[in-house]
Amino acid sequence: MLPRIAVMGRPNVGKSTLFNRLAGRRIAIVDDTPGVTRDRKETIARIAGRDVLLIDTAGLEEAAPDTIPGRMRASSEAALRAADLVLFVVDVRTGLTPADRSFAQWLRRHGKPVLLLANKAEGREGAARALEAYELGLGAPLLVSAEHGDGMGELHDEIREALPPEPAEEEEDVADENRPLRLSIVGRPNAGKSTLLNALLGEERMITGPEPGLTRDSVAVGWTDETGKPVRLVDTAGLRRRARITEALEQMSTAATIAALKECEVAVLVVDAVQGMDEQDLRIARLAEREGRAVVIAFNKWDAVEDRNAARRRLEDVLTASLAQLKGVFVVPLSAATGRGVERLMPTVREAYELWNRRVPTGALNRWFEAALERHAPPLVNGKRLKLRYATMPKARPPTLAIFGTRAEQMPEDYRRYLVNSFREAFDMPGVPVRVNARGTD
Ligand code: GDP
Ligand code: GDP
Repeated sequence: MLPRIAVMGRPNVGKSTLFNRLAGRRIAIVDDTPGVTRDRKETIARIAGRDVLLIDTAGLEEAAPDTIPGRMRASSEAALRAADLVLFVVDVRTGLTPADRSFAQWLRRHGKPVLLLANKAEGREGAARALEAYELGLGAPLLVSAEHGDGMGELHDEIREALPPEPAEEEEDVADENRPLRLSIVGRPNAGKSTLLNALLGEERMITGPEPGLTRDSVAVGWTDETGKPVRLVDTAGLRRRARITEALEQMSTAATIAALKECEVAVLVVDAVQGMDEQDLRIARLAEREGRAVVIAFNKWDAVEDRNAARRRLEDVLTASLAQLKGVFVVPLSAATGRGVERLMPTVREAYELWNRRVPTGALNRWFEAALERHAPPLVNGKRLKLRYATMPKARPPTLAIFGTRAEQMPEDYRRYLVNSFREAFDMPGVPVRVNARGTD
């Protein structure tokens, strides 16, 4: 879940202006009239390198206490309770009012982390006037001008400090230039896996033993590819010698295939182009997709294919009809036996790997999301409209979307598929498996 930051304060202190400033776009309506009732607005904002849920409580403000906190409306209480951090805004131009003081008292009693913002502090008098804000007992005020953008860098830093620590990213979730790319070669018997491995290894073969991160029984063959970057072929056969790895590749059972897929980042699916892609190949491709791996199809034995155009067309048809979840998957026609086309495999593997690692910035993601919802509105579920609000991308490897909204968890499969395809197209990620976690919010 994202950290939640509520912007609070009495009417007209500049909450919505601050909200827009932090969100980086205009969402809430800024109005000079105090107490103009507006909906609670929420948006995802990127603050100090981190996605947060920003909540503008302007509109709850008529519920703000005059004097007696007991009169607070339930919604203000709820907004506060759900927040990890409160940005409490006061207006240094008007100075503190009784409403500010009782608001502050109420906040202190709840014991939530609060950053006190002395807003409208642009210009020279700002600092002097802000001194008064110390009286609120919420620590040193941070001088800002929501309208002019003053103090925003410091505000970002303070927010970062005040938020609960970010859950550590799994080490796995970090693409590291120097760490070898983990590759598995999968495919049905006789597709040409061993031949391809030999072609890839060439003279640079090198066998390594079990290494940290691989399961106890795994073994890796390492080499550097054409691009000079390290590659590890991971296999789970528990073998030490290359000859025996080759054997293991030849007689790959479904269990061994799944084990190999679990350990790799990119799976090269070797398909016999003479025979074409069959049910068994599709099953392995679907396993790879299920494990969330980047997939590249090595369309092997290209030397022995008589009608190449026909073979290509047939493959396209099968992929379109039966492998929509990997739409646009990379295909490299090659001949492992003669070596032709093999040099194109690893660059393609790298490309698939890059896409699989790709993170989409929050702003671009939400622009896409809004457009996708507009183009094709979410369906009714049990007669009620699915209200999707926003999307984040909590992780890559494989790209994973978190989608929030009312009844989001009930999102029908075909709508999910629509979003995935739209996402893949928008961000040019052909063939990449995409995960969607849909979460209901109230
Ligand atoms: P809210 O009711 O707390 O959401 O306040 P608004 O964001 O609607 O702002 C109230 C008024 O204060 C608007 O006229 C804003 O333009 C103005 N305002 C907001 N921030 C600043 C600021 O930093 N400096 C000055 N001078 N005016 C501001
Ligand atoms: P594996 O069971 O997937 O490891 O397949 P192998 O690498 O043992 O190859 C199976 C058979 O296909 C062998 O007879 C290979 O010589 C043959 N083969 C492999 N690659 C090619 C190729 O690119 N072209 C042709 N014509 N035959 C190939």
